[in-house]
Amino acid sequence: MKYCKKCKQIKFTDDVNCSCGKKLIENVSLDAPCELLRTDETNSVKIDSVLAKSGVPYSDVMTNKVQMLFGSVTGDHIFYVPICFLKKSIDSLVAVNAMEQPDYYDKIDLPDEPQWEELSPVKRNIVRALSIIGFAVLVYLCVAGVGTVAYFIKGLFG
Ligand SMILES: [Zn+2]
Repeated sequence: MKYCKKCKQIKFTDDVNCSCGKKLIENVSLDAPCELLRTDETNSVKIDSVLAKSGVPYSDVMTNKVQMLFGSVTGDHIFYVPICFLKKSIDSLVAVNAMEQPDYYDKIDLPDEPQWEELSPVKRNIVRALSIIGFAVLVYLCVAGVGTVAYFIKGLFG
């Protein structure tokens, strides 16, 4: 199993490079985001609810947005899940006919149950630490005064 960082897709190929030209990674971390499927607005609502109910962490990215009447927005949706959740996600979605079983399904060499829980305490702490640092920096910027920041930015572009 290989992975393209740019396309965020797993590949089953002997090729060294992805079709996009980027080098394929062989030992990819199982929490890397991976494209699950692309679908339309109507089906995306169903997929959102199925994935949420299955406890799968996912992101639903909208492309080709079209502004509709009454302020609503429609478009295509690309769903990403961590690689370790790929099989579980496909299982849940195929069960409710929200997607077809992809032809690479049998090639996914992953345990059926995601190995995410083992990683999560450490990971959660790292994320927490980073967000605290980020927040501290923000507070500092506010305290130090917007004027300084503006001066700094002006210096960058001036
Ligand atoms: Zn690629």
